[in-house]
Amino acid sequence: MRVVVTGGAGFLGSHLCEALVGRGDEVVCLDNFLTGAPANVSHLVEEPGFKLIRSDVTDFVHVGGKVDLVLHFASPASPIDYLKLPIETLKVGSIGTLHALGLARDKSARIVLASTSEVYGDPHVHPQPETYWGHVNPVGPRGVYDEAKRFAEALTLAYRNTHAVDTGIVRIFNTFGPRMRPNDGRAIPNFIRQSLAGEPVTVAGDGSQTRSICYVDDLVDAILSMADGEHQGPINIGNPHEISMLDLARKVIDLTGSASRVAHIERPVDDPTVRQPDTTLARQVLGWEPKVEIDEGLARTIAWFREVHPWSPA
Ligand code: UDP
Repeated sequence: MRVVVTGGAGFLGSHLCEALVGRGDEVVCLDNFLTGAPANVSHLVEEPGFKLIRSDVTDFVHVGGKVDLVLHFASPASPIDYLKLPIETLKVGSIGTLHALGLARDKSARIVLASTSEVYGDPHVHPQPETYWGHVNPVGPRGVYDEAKRFAEALTLAYRNTHAVDTGIVRIFNTFGPRMRPNDGRAIPNFIRQSLAGEPVTVAGDGSQTRSICYVDDLVDAILSMADGEHQGPINIGNPHEISMLDLARKVIDLTGSASRVAHIERPVDDPTVRQPDTTLARQVLGWEPKVEIDEGLARTIAWFREVHPWSPA
């Protein structure tokens, strides 16, 4: 298969590129390096089936030759990134998605859209099934990401219904693993960085808000299974293992053997209180279930941070 991965040099994109190359697919990786980085795929550039192209999918998308599959993963995805880059975030979710869908249509390729649990906003239904419409504040700070992805889902459906494009939508819940940027502001990289550096571990509010966190290898398995199948989704992909942020901070401090203490900071505006995927559909349709235990995933991620980042004591 020849696969185009937009945002291929980002956290999730780079893991997808690696898995695709590993199974013998040809990969065209597009990225504008706004939040992704060439270093994330530097180990792949020597591979004969891998091509890295600097390209902003909001400008245009051009790929010569045949394409069998498009994985549209380009977007700032961490709250501090999309708060800093609100217009870019809205553009890549809307115009970028339009271009990615246009490419899939032109090449008669299947396209899988990376949507997000953020479409559920601060949910009033818990856990969240795909049938829940969400509780999103369009004019709150997170609206730029949430609404861009909601628009992207609607546009994807429009291309399916109007142009018979073979589309799939995955709603991705919190995912973690190697290659998260230590300063991307998200809880897990923050907690690991702070613990390894012996700094206070910043827990927002009282830390009772929950997330359900999935190790990246499990996520990649689910995405590839979705890509290889025919289901249109949307399908929730995430590990239903739910944990409060305070417990997560304590766990990371424990696993790193750190002397850091928890420091409470202000809770961000519109920060969702709970989040947990209902994964019934993923189990039924993809036969998928996460396999990596949270502690094991965190241990692997911590080992990577130690290896790659100089501020990590041995
Ligand atoms: N959070 C925290 N300390 C940090 C960064 C984040 O307690 O240093 C909290 C944040 O307020 C939220 C949760 O951790 O309640 C998850 O935030 P993250 O940015 O990782 O992901 P998202 O909000 O997009 O699920």
